[in-house]
Amino acid sequence: MNLLRATFQSQLKRFFAPFACLHCKTPSTQVLCPVCLSVFRPRPQLLSYPTYGIEQLYSIYTMTGVSTSVLRHWKYSGAIGLNSLLFNWPNRFIEQIRSESFSYLIPIPQSEKRTPRQGAARVAELAFVFHQTFKVPILNLFKLSPTKQHNKSLDLISRMSQPNPFLLEPRSHGPDPLTYVKKVALIDDFYTTGQTLSFAAEKITAAYPNIKIIGITLGVRPQKIKQSSNFIH
Ligand SMILES: [Zn+2]
Repeated sequence: MNLLRATFQSQLKRFFAPFACLHCKTPSTQVLCPVCLSVFRPRPQLLSYPTYGIEQLYSIYTMTGVSTSVLRHWKYSGAIGLNSLLFNWPNRFIEQIRSESFSYLIPIPQSEKRTPRQGAARVAELAFVFHQTFKVPILNLFKLSPTKQHNKSLDLISRMSQPNPFLLEPRSHGPDPLTYVKKVALIDDFYTTGQTLSFAAEKITAAYPNIKIIGITLGVRPQKIKQSSNFIH
């Protein structure tokens, strides 16, 4: 009987407060409670990593506190309700990226072994949002080499010493879309070690030495920011 009552009470609670705040878990009718919402802000950054083959890296969120909770949730569920929270960027940041005048958005391919729940289509989804925001076409240039190991299963040292996991997708017919292109943007969801973008940049540079490359990611880990940062204000 007690169990029944407890179940009933928890159902009742759920009815009146159907959601919990994604970050602090307090009951909330919104994805984030008002307190967490007040600290969740895009913190656009412009990071310079010339040694990685990338001229500039633009990242919209720093992975700390509330933003980590939100980005993780989006990462694993692709919840549509979060998109309005995530993509409410300052106009001047959009303008700054747009002023780079790049010709294509090139998404980093993701392992098909990852289930939809782990967000296998996440970068494709992100590229689509960027396409709508910047009005620049998407070019699927890469495929994964069949021997690619998932980064998550590797420690940092093995991760850094992996062979390049990317192959350029062979073109079946027609002119090469990159022939007269001056600049492209690589798209990834999170910037951690810089290794992924660097591998992708290496492949582009080997085939097209005159193309300049920028990177745009949704989130960046804070330890990277300390090394080289330039907040856009
Ligand atoms: Zn909260």
